[in-house]
Parts: sequence; structure tokens; C-alpha cells
Amino acid sequence: PEREIDARRSEEDGNEGTLRPQTLDDFTGQKASRENLAIFIAAARQRGDALDHVLLHGPPGLGKTTLAQIVARELGVGFRATSGPVIQRAGDLAAILTNLQPRDVLFIDEIHRLHPAIEEVLYPAMEDFQLDLIIGEGPAARSVRIDLSPFTLVAATTRAGLLATPLRDRFGIPLRLVFYTPEELCQIVTRGARKLEFDLTPEGAEEIARRSRGTPRIAGRLLRRVRDFAAVARAGRGPVDRVLADAALSRLEVDSMGLDSMDRRYLRRIAEFHHGGPVGVETLAAALAEARDTLEDVIEPYLIQEGLVLRTSRGRMLGERGWRHLGLQPPARTPG
Ligand code: ATP
Repeated sequence: PEREIDARRSEEDGNEGTLRPQTLDDFTGQKASRENLAIFIAAARQRGDALDHVLLHGPPGLGKTTLAQIVARELGVGFRATSGPVIQRAGDLAAILTNLQPRDVLFIDEIHRLHPAIEEVLYPAMEDFQLDLIIGEGPAARSVRIDLSPFTLVAATTRAGLLATPLRDRFGIPLRLVFYTPEELCQIVTRGARKLEFDLTPEGAEEIARRSRGTPRIAGRLLRRVRDFAAVARAGRGPVDRVLADAALSRLEVDSMGLDSMDRRYLRRIAEFHHGGPVGVETLAAALAEARDTLEDVIEPYLIQEGLVLRTSRGRMLGERGWRHLGLQPPARTPG
């Protein structure tokens, strides 16, 4: 990716499967979601029913796809994956649905990008396991009803608010994924290093974890970069410690908090052009030449959680931590 720490999936993450946890017990963090899922999965298994539909929402890279796969594995059923923008026509969705085995998991990533007309097909499928299809065109068109096997839809979206209410209401199990703590990321990094078979000291792991923006996907990516850097810098001799990890990450322009140049540009824009705000998100998006959605889904959530930025009714404001992170003096009346 252009940004080393962009949490969105990119081409080079194709091999990230090697680091994917396989069971609910293996899955680090997201305690609330994990506990909820464990209970509902056990109940569904006991009854021999399909699990209720699950909606996973949260910033990219927190493990939505991974959890969906784990749900299928724990249920002992088949797993089929697609995504909102890939489904072009109602027929595409119908083909997928009619091929599901009883109780299978269908994963739809980016469900908020599903075409509204296709969403309509999904409603009766989710609710009554039925498809209403129009066959043919014009006066010869007729509608047919097809019974489907009971299935579980596991859907992922970056923000639950992006979904139409009737769709959102059809998920019995909505789960919000949250950023990981540095301790959880440290476990993930340590396990990742072991799987990649390279020697990382606990302090080295901590350094990578602390700078991963609360996101396992970024942690995995930084881990690989640090490994590559170490392979060249010390020709594979000796463990990777904090000093080496820091050198590698600094070279990638990932700063002490895990922020990259895009994050800093965002913060600096509010500080320098808007005296700390408030400034509307549209104005910021235009100034930074980014889509508003990218700001809201990818860049802002972490900055807001960490108190660098505040979301107010009048727009974004720099928090006190934001000023300090930029090495600037906050004006006298900065909230937060
Ligand atoms: P997107 O929303 O972009 O599809 P995602 O939230 O579905 O992202 P995943 O593809 O599931 O993210 O996970 C990204 C990477 O992080 C994978 O390599 C996965 O192995 C790793 N990962 C995610 N969650 C965990 C976890 N709890 N423990 C260990 N590794 C994890």
C-alpha cells in the first residue's frame, strides 16, 4: 500500500493467511464479541439450527474476515465468501444462495456497498430462507419462489450506520469490533514472529505492537517489514530487539504512536489551517484530496479513540494530545 499502516487490505497481504488464528480460543482480543459468539454458537449447535445472522462492524483490519471463518469452523459447516461490490445482479446472489448447504456460513464483506435492488433479494432470504425471483422480461415475466437451506449470513461493514435500517434489523447478532490494546497486539506479534520463524525479543514485539494503530493487520505488516529490515541490516544474525525494530519502523515513517505521514498531515491541517478547528470533515477531505469515507472509516477512528482529534457537532477539533503529538502548543481554550 501507499501507506505502510493503511489498515485496508492490499495485494501484498495475500499471504496474511499464515498468521490467521483458526479457532475462537486462538483469537486474541475482542473479548465481548468472542464471548457472545461462543454462547450463540454452542446454542445453535445444540439445537442443530443455523446460527442467527451476524453483523460485524468496525474499522478495517480488526479481524472481521477471520472471525467469520472461525464461526464457520466452530459450527462445523461450510464457508462461502463474497463482497457487496462484487455482487452485480440479483442472479449472482441467487446463484450463491441456492448453492449453500444447510447451516452454511455466507460471508458478505462490505455489505454497505450492496446494490439496493440486491438488498431486497436478501431480505426474504435472511428472514424466511426464500428467494423471490423474476424470470423473463416484459409480459412473459413471472415470479418464482425458491426455498433455500437455512444459512447464516455473516456480514461485515466499517460502520453499522451505513446500512439501511431494515437490513440492519435483520441481524440477530450485531457485534462491534474495537481497536486492540498494545498488550493484545503484543501477543499477536509474538505469535506471528514464531510462525514466521524469526527471533524477536519481548521488547522488540512491544515496540511493533505499540506502533500498530490498534490493528492486527498493521501489526502483521509491520512485523514483516521489520523482519525484512533485520535480514538486510544484520544479515539474519541475532534476535530483533527494540532498537532494531525502532530503526525499521522509523525508516517506514511510522512514528512513536504508530501514526504515518497521512495521519500527521490530517492533524497538521487542523492545527495550522484551522487553528485547531472546528472544521467540517468535507473541508478536510477536499484539502487532503481524500474521500470523506476514507477519513471517517480509516483515518479518524484511531485518532479519535486516542484523543488526538475530537468529533464535535461543529466539526473536527484537535485534542490536547493532538497538539502535543505535533510538538505544538495548544491555544489556551482547547477542550479535551
Ligand atoms: P477488512 O475489514 O479489511 O476485511 P478484517 O477486519 O476482515 O479486515 P482480517 O482479514 O480478518 O481483517 O484480519 C486481518 C489480519 O489480521 C489477518 O492477517 C489476520 O490473521 C490478523 N488478525 C485479525 N484478528 C486477529 C486476532 N485476533 N489475532 C491474531 N491475528 C489477527
